[in-house]
Amino acid sequence: MTSPLLAGLNAQQLEAITLPHQSVLVLAGAGSGKTRVLTTRIAYLIQSNQASPYSILAVTFTNKAAKEMLTRINAMLPVNTRGMWVGTFHGLCNRLLRAHYQEAGLPQSFQILDTADQLAMIKRIMKRLSVDDKRFPPRQIQWFINHAKEAGQRAADVIVDDPFSRHLLEFYLAYEQQCNREGVADFAELLLRSYELLNRNEILRDHYRERFDHILVDEFQDTNRLQYNWLKLLAGVGTAHAAAVFVVGDDDQSIYAFRGADTGNMKDFERDFAISTIIKLEQNYRSHGNILSAANTLIENNEQRLGKNLWTAEGEGEPIRVYRAFNDTDEASYIVDEIRALHADGVMLSDIALLYRSNAQSRVLEHSLFNASLPYRVYGGMRFFERMEIKHALAYLRLVANPEDDNALLRIINFPARGIGARSLEHLQDVARQQNSSLWEAALLQCGDEINLDTATASNAKSKKGITGFVILIQTLRRDWEHMPLPQIIERVLLHSGLLSHYTTEREGADRLENLHELVNAAISFVHEAEDDSLPAFLAHASLEAGEHQAGGGQDALQLMTVHAAKGLEFHSVFLSGLEEGLFPHDNSLNEIKGLEEERRLMYVAITRARRRLYFTFAQSRMLHGQTRYNIASRFVEEIPKSFLKWIKPSRDISGSGRMSSYDMGAAFSTASVASGEKLFKRTPVADGQWHIGQAVTHAKFGEGVILNYEGSGSEARVQVNFARAGTKWLMLEYAKLTPG
Ligand code: ATP
Ligand code: MG
Repeated sequence: MTSPLLAGLNAQQLEAITLPHQSVLVLAGAGSGKTRVLTTRIAYLIQSNQASPYSILAVTFTNKAAKEMLTRINAMLPVNTRGMWVGTFHGLCNRLLRAHYQEAGLPQSFQILDTADQLAMIKRIMKRLSVDDKRFPPRQIQWFINHAKEAGQRAADVIVDDPFSRHLLEFYLAYEQQCNREGVADFAELLLRSYELLNRNEILRDHYRERFDHILVDEFQDTNRLQYNWLKLLAGVGTAHAAAVFVVGDDDQSIYAFRGADTGNMKDFERDFAISTIIKLEQNYRSHGNILSAANTLIENNEQRLGKNLWTAEGEGEPIRVYRAFNDTDEASYIVDEIRALHADGVMLSDIALLYRSNAQSRVLEHSLFNASLPYRVYGGMRFFERMEIKHALAYLRLVANPEDDNALLRIINFPARGIGARSLEHLQDVARQQNSSLWEAALLQCGDEINLDTATASNAKSKKGITGFVILIQTLRRDWEHMPLPQIIERVLLHSGLLSHYTTEREGADRLENLHELVNAAISFVHEAEDDSLPAFLAHASLEAGEHQAGGGQDALQLMTVHAAKGLEFHSVFLSGLEEGLFPHDNSLNEIKGLEEERRLMYVAITRARRRLYFTFAQSRMLHGQTRYNIASRFVEEIPKSFLKWIKPSRDISGSGRMSSYDMGAAFSTASVASGEKLFKRTPVADGQWHIGQAVTHAKFGEGVILNYEGSGSEARVQVNFARAGTKWLMLEYAKLTPG
């Protein structure tokens, strides 16, 4: 086969691409061409008539990656790829549930709850049940529910053996009922429900098994148990129509164990799918030698590895530049100077990434970039579809599509203000509870004969105050929806809801107005691109794409994102900022070998994003969450041999800033104990059995919390505590000085 499609590929890549109909595992390190092989195989199968686009399903990790894949395939082949299913697990499950909503027991226009919506719903249920949110932090309940769903368990399937978990289970049950009543689905629900649908419905299962002859999965190391089972079910191993499942992955890049991803899936895959060939790709085409060697050496510190080698035909290239900044501002200005220099040398801004471990770090960086007038785009963080004004607009749209959606109703019934006070809202909630109905039905009941909905118009919605005005508004918008194209209905919603005039009068509302207009643009492109351009489809797209859409594209801009969000991507130059103990590796991971290894894999992902140039920066002092932290360099910097690094001497004069005068630098930076504050606490004797799960405790620094988990004994004893303010942490009991209550 001498197709131009296959030109320039190495022998192992070719083998993987051209394998006959069988299941395969491609296990290979970063930059070895896994994604390229997967995409090329799809094109190859179609071109050589071994498969039609209709019989292919491909799973990618982000919607952005799915789009890129389709673009690449279209560039390689002049075929229509519409029939092909390419998307994330969530996106594909959503598609399946929309197509078979009745069989799945969902309303036709079911809405998707994102993480924030889900939390809001949990809080509402807790309030209704008068539950103390100190004893049962809502985030913990959320974690419990999602964790159970990701393990494939409904409330009825969960077995608990302590009173605290029994309460959590009760919430799960109440939450399940509420979701069913409102006809909404959270992210984990999309997967679980679609798994159950295929499992239960033989006709559908056979239909899809017959249809999808080839299933391909990128970033397989990050699939969780439920996703794996879903694949297995759909593929129909051992049946007459079993699909060929082609998965590519890298155990060294598994960075979602904290969300239930399980590299054990790779071993199971080998067994369950009777894999006879594991293909290893060992040549890295992305990075220069020094960068690759640094990554290879670093990851050797992990014990739990399948083991791989990576080499490059490229030269060594430049050493990794390391900059130790005095503080976060100094760090940011160094980065700005270097970016300017790179850009002046002809590197596109979009080919430069600025990475950080946690979103909170981006603020100072953004500030400096803004002052330097360097255009940048943030991926993740405050995402377009998660911005407040966008969520308000979407809530109106959700209500238009499905008035039973209580979450949406509560968000906007009095926003912009229309004189509906807390008391009338409480009354509405009482009525809904009594008649076991949605808030919308309660509102309709309350309006009674006061309005004639048949003759209602947008202008008499405005003239009526309170709940009546609101009901007329939604009702008239619902009527418009029936005959208007999507962008137009959005414009009407923005106008008649009062959102536009609200933000026109608000100080600093200009950005928000711009975003609202951008929402109409988003709908216009959606209508052009999507097969199903209905309002529910658009709303599903908004929930699933949150975090990936950026307002104002087109301009060459620097890329800012967390390391997690950078997975699979590559850039000419990469800045890895905040390389400090406690920040990266993150505080939360330090008590556990597993946690530390996952942080190291994350560091491996970060390093291997760079093609030509890599920077490490860290700040000796940093303001974060309102506190100044004094830091030492990340252990990961120490783990990389000096010969790959070049330490940059600070050139700017910061003596006038006064920041360094108040403490002794040498002392502050020489002991590791400064960063991990826990070790500074005095030892406290622990009596085993003194603590139990569910117990309320207080910590000198983190405040009040509840014990979630407990392990070890004697000097090894550790507890996991969920602190109301500081989040979840593992603490060594001996040092932590916890007090009951
Ligand atoms: P990651 O693990 O980071 O997701 P990957 O294994 O998926 O990496 P790709 O992104 O597919 O790697 O490839 C890395 C880079 O190497 C891309 O720019 C790709 O086009 C290039 N590449 C892959 N194979 C070859 C080849 N045979 N010849 C030239 N370039 C190649
Ligand atoms: Mg890849």
